[in-house]
Amino acid sequence: MASGSSSVCRPHVLMLPFPETGHINPLMDLAKYLSSCHGFLITFVNTLYNHKRILRANVGHLPSDHGLDIRMVGIPDGLSEVENRDNDVADFVKVIENVGAVLDELIRNIASECPHPVTCIISDVTAVKTIDVAQKFGIPRVAFWPPNASTHSLICHARHAASVGEFAAEDFLEKDEVVSFPGLPPMRGRHLPWAVGTKQEAQSIFKSVCRNVEALRHSEWVLCNSVYELEPTIQSLLPSGYSKVCPIGPILHADLLQKRITRENQTTTGLWTEQNECLDWLDHQSPCTVLYVSMGSIVLFVKQQLLELALGLEASGVRILWVLRADTCSPDCFPDGYIERNAKKMKIVQWCPQVSVLSHKAVGGFLTHCGWNSTLEAMAMGIPMLAWPHLADQFLNSSLIVDEWGVGIHLGEGFVRGETVEAKVKELMSQESPVRGKALQLKQVITRASIEGGSSFTNLVKFVEWLKMNCE
Ligand code: UDP
Repeated sequence: MASGSSSVCRPHVLMLPFPETGHINPLMDLAKYLSSCHGFLITFVNTLYNHKRILRANVGHLPSDHGLDIRMVGIPDGLSEVENRDNDVADFVKVIENVGAVLDELIRNIASECPHPVTCIISDVTAVKTIDVAQKFGIPRVAFWPPNASTHSLICHARHAASVGEFAAEDFLEKDEVVSFPGLPPMRGRHLPWAVGTKQEAQSIFKSVCRNVEALRHSEWVLCNSVYELEPTIQSLLPSGYSKVCPIGPILHADLLQKRITRENQTTTGLWTEQNECLDWLDHQSPCTVLYVSMGSIVLFVKQQLLELALGLEASGVRILWVLRADTCSPDCFPDGYIERNAKKMKIVQWCPQVSVLSHKAVGGFLTHCGWNSTLEAMAMGIPMLAWPHLADQFLNSSLIVDEWGVGIHLGEGFVRGETVEAKVKELMSQESPVRGKALQLKQVITRASIEGGSSFTNLVKFVEWLKMNCE
């Protein structure tokens, strides 16, 4: 390892997320926890494109503005000027390969400029190139697995089945055929996480997720943003030879519980500016009366679907806080007068502080696309969900939410009519809904896992001890 000039070694963790919101957020939560609770130095690496967006979107609210030793760094992503950097999974994959491969220059620069050399790399599971870089510098690499352990298990089983000729990823696309693996809900072929695009594209995504799982054997730890009690048997049912993941979630809890984040001292590092005024609007609503609606950072709607959703939400009569990203909606999407006649009952923003929203007492339900972060954040706050999955791991998450954990109801799949939205919103928001009690029970389970003596807390403590040992 390159040596610094200081005689006292301070843990210095270099973090590299996949260049997408759902991957950046939980890794940043871990960065904040390690920095605020343990005094570690963090270098947080984004693509230059995302880095500039983050700086622009969060003026005055970055971790460094609040005294945390988290240095945000941007490095080139290797794409040409004109290539799409916002919504194309194939490009995201290309980018993470490129960025992982050029990390060594950054590590060399840090060694020459900073008294504390990098002592560990925590990189997204997709950043397999960082394994070579870590080996070159003699630094341990820890893999960060942002989805749940069930998704890891699903890929391991499918990979194993493919290796013995029992499963061909591309054959399942668009099929109703049901695939079953131990410990996992049965899934239709078209709902498998890699069933995206054409057969060829699905095959290539499947190959790349299998490669990522295979590469986990070169990582000292595989940190997973989940909770053991949510998926207790999933690891023990893996085919032999597959590495185990270590659940430390919900990572945001580690920070929230230990540092008492408030509206004033909250730091943000998202790609969009949070419109905090929606919290003031929530302050004026009665407890448990507001449905929060958000489809995360990637899902896009066709205009007709957006219209049906808008009409269904209005017809439900429920108060709504709705995140409509600028890229999902143009001003002519809604019928004439829609915004005006719903001005009192509905608050529409382009991006919000979601964790604060979900923990607000006025919020009583969440219409979600079932991204894993949103799912875990809602469960951590005891909020029942209306599940409307669109792609990737969202279908598996939705089965877990509804069928396994009983903390939500299905809205539907694909195109959904306004009448369905209306009926399901009313069902979810009714105070008698059984999923409401279940959501509160699960909140207790998750909270217990995150506090001293709990499973996630204990795993995090062990991990921190190991990080410190690497420094001795
Ligand atoms: N999020 C947010 N504000 C919003 C919408 C989403 O802060 O208005 C955050 C949310 O808290 C979560 C992430 O964006 O941490 C979305 O990740 P998820 O895995 O749920 O979905 P993805 O965006 O990856 O589809």
